[in-house]
Amino acid sequence: MKAITVAIDGFSSCGKSTIAKQLAQQVGYTYIDTGAMYRAVALYSLSHEDYLDHLEDIPLTGLGDSIRTLEVGNRASVVATIPQVRRFLVDKQQEMGRQGGVVMDGRDIGTVVFPHAELKLFLTASPQVRAQRRYDELRAKGENPNFADVLADVNDRDYRDTHRQESPLRQADDAIVVDNSDMTREEQMEVILRLFRNCCNKQNQSADIN
Ligand code: C5P
Repeated sequence: MKAITVAIDGFSSCGKSTIAKQLAQQVGYTYIDTGAMYRAVALYSLSHEDYLDHLEDIPLTGLGDSIRTLEVGNRASVVATIPQVRRFLVDKQQEMGRQGGVVMDGRDIGTVVFPHAELKLFLTASPQVRAQRRYDELRAKGENPNFADVLADVNDRDYRDTHRQESPLRQADDAIVVDNSDMTREEQMEVILRLFRNCCNKQNQSADIN
């Protein structure tokens, strides 16, 4: 059975990473969180003004929770507008997924990083639902956020992600939209696993014909 590439894009805080990780685990693929890579550059940039001259030196993995703050998330959506940063990270991501058998999540995976991915999903949920999830997450981590701030943040980040010049977040023409506003994680996983299996079957049937 040929290993396919799964590209998962969508707005912030719509549960992309959780579902992508879970899918990868279930089907034995490698999970690659590209948002974490932008966050890693963002974290580094907060203490290194000259970070653009040192992209190669920035540790991109193993940063744990230090990259999961609101400050780093916001900063990530700013550094993500810089063409030099995008080119650097996109190269790395293409290299990491070259062999297939990966589930990669981000904003530009189905449009820029792997435009030929066999399965492209575009996850979405209403801003209110996403802000509530983000709010619950931050509370669970012991932070004490204000809901209105979190919602404003979600909206700001959506705006920056969809309006930047370089690789703005947009749904690939051949992506399948999954709106999970009213789905439980289990329901969503069921839908996505079904799409994954259908896609693998189709790939194998066309491989048989050729
Ligand atoms: O997905 P996550 O919230 O961790 O991503 C942080 C920020 O990094 C996003 O708001 C987005 O601006 C940027 N990003 C991106 N392209 C990706 C992944 C993330 O521009 N492939």
